[in-house]
Amino acid sequence: NFKAQILDAAEMRRALTRIAHEILERNKGAENLAVVGIHTRGIPLAERLAKKIAELEGLQVPTGKLDITLYRDDLSEVGLQPVIRRTEVPFDIARKRVILVDDVLFTGRTIRAALDALIDLGRPSAIQLAVLIDRGHRELPIRADYVGKNLPTSRGEVVKVKLEESDGQDIVELWEI
Ligand code: 5GP
Ligand code: MG
Repeated sequence: NFKAQILDAAEMRRALTRIAHEILERNKGAENLAVVGIHTRGIPLAERLAKKIAELEGLQVPTGKLDITLYRDDLSEVGLQPVIRRTEVPFDIARKRVILVDDVLFTGRTIRAALDALIDLGRPSAIQLAVLIDRGHRELPIRADYVGKNLPTSRGEVVKVKLEESDGQDIVELWEI
């Protein structure tokens, strides 16, 4: 059941432009930056941020991908478990300031798994988190450094994120399941 539109295409574009500026301000430029997107929709968002950073600074930042999928573990009662399926980080993350990018931040378990996977690859000088939507309900001490929009939700609600690259349009909606 549709409840509300949260972001249209122009609002999403402005949020990502703002986040790109915030990343550059916080890190004093694009030197030593890298952007890593989390499958599925974090990847196009990471690529958009890298493109905006390149436009603003004239510096190409390396980009990578992590495929972390939540699956239900039938043997335990602990609900969804994040599993690392694929790591595509084709650059040395040592001494890099890595910006992790995802579409929606919820319990924080996916990001915890992403941090483990990144740290296994080397020693970045910093890891920061950018998300399009923070819907609350954290179960771990994890927060985003850059947020497109904070959206308090109930557990029965779900945020639909559609992106041009995968869905043909940029829109964020709130649905009741
Ligand atoms: P967490 O691990 O923080 O519980 O959940 C985050 C992951 O699950 C993200 O990769 C995100 O894509 C997905 N996710 C959790 N809740 C939602 C939601 O309401 N909408 C969408 N689109 N993804 C969600
Ligand atoms: Mg996801």
